[in-house]
Amino acid sequence: MKKIYFTPGPTELYPTVAAHIENALHEDICSISHRSSRFKDIFKATRDNLKILLEIPDNFHIFFIGSATEAMERIIENCVQHKSSHLVNGAFSERFYKTALDLKKEPQKIMASFGNGFYEHEIEIDADSELICVTQNETSTGVALSPDFISRMKRRHPEKLIAVDVVSSVPYAALDYKFLDCAFFSVQKGFGLPAGLGVIIANERCIQKAQSLQEKDFDIGSYHNFPSLLKQAQKCQTSETPNVLAIYLLGKVCADYLQSGLSEIRKQTEIKSVALYEFFENHPQYKPFVKEESFRSHTIIVSETISESSSMISRAAKQGFIIGSGYGNYKNRHIRIANFPVHSLDNVKSLLVYLR
Ligand SMILES: *Cc1c(COP(=O)(O)O)cnc(C)c1O
Repeated sequence: MKKIYFTPGPTELYPTVAAHIENALHEDICSISHRSSRFKDIFKATRDNLKILLEIPDNFHIFFIGSATEAMERIIENCVQHKSSHLVNGAFSERFYKTALDLKKEPQKIMASFGNGFYEHEIEIDADSELICVTQNETSTGVALSPDFISRMKRRHPEKLIAVDVVSSVPYAALDYKFLDCAFFSVQKGFGLPAGLGVIIANERCIQKAQSLQEKDFDIGSYHNFPSLLKQAQKCQTSETPNVLAIYLLGKVCADYLQSGLSEIRKQTEIKSVALYEFFENHPQYKPFVKEESFRSHTIIVSETISESSSMISRAAKQGFIIGSGYGNYKNRHIRIANFPVHSLDNVKSLLVYLR
């Protein structure tokens, strides 16, 4: 039986990926030199497709790294001398905050409880903070912060840098890059690709901040510090031998998404998420975990379960529906369902028929 992975990540592979991998093998993508003009063409194609797809302005650079977790470390190293401020409402925003602690910064932690988001008027960013870190879609709880919320934070704090984790909402989230300085993601979620590639999207201000820290003799890391990443990216290259196949595949799936059209992808995402939330609202065995509707993620849908979720998850697996468990302490009390472009309306409908 063909299984469908509704897990938050890794998730189901996007349907075109198998053919793209076959083409890549046919074209010897895994053997070409990362200094060759063919690699530079791949780098450029992926970068350009991403910029078009996500409407990224010209003053932003695209860097290819290992993972989203790496992105957190690189951003703190390169954008913070002493203090970053973190909106923490789940496991991934907590990881971003802990990264700053590990790097010996003095981060500010602004907390909301699991399953909650943030209200602007409740947030006080310390005056000496250099960087505001926001997890736009908290995968552990299914809470999303609106793109507008992020733009308003930037308007309130134009002098500070803002970094946004969009790992589990890209490409759905309609972020306005004029009102942020840095965003990052990895590819095994919304792009339906094998794991092993992270992407940082950073503007000139982030580069300048890194350069000023470097001039002051702060440790901003080595081959993946922003000035090195930029120097290589300007040549359409990377310092190390990169995951060429992953960069190639990301460019191809971006092209597929451009073909479908992002507005259509967004529309479909909302149709599917409305169906999922409606089902969980009305079924006696389930209840959406996020109570405040405006905080409900369209890409990660989390439901409480009346009985232990582990047994229903293994029953569903026997029918080919692979569903995410709850995160951390909620492992056995929640299910998490990814609603990415790879998950068709038909997939979601058959899942709901099964759950009903
Ligand atoms: C999955 C995830 C990460 C970590 O991604 P990796 O590629 O495993 O490093 C970070 N933030 C969020 C919101 C995530 O969902």
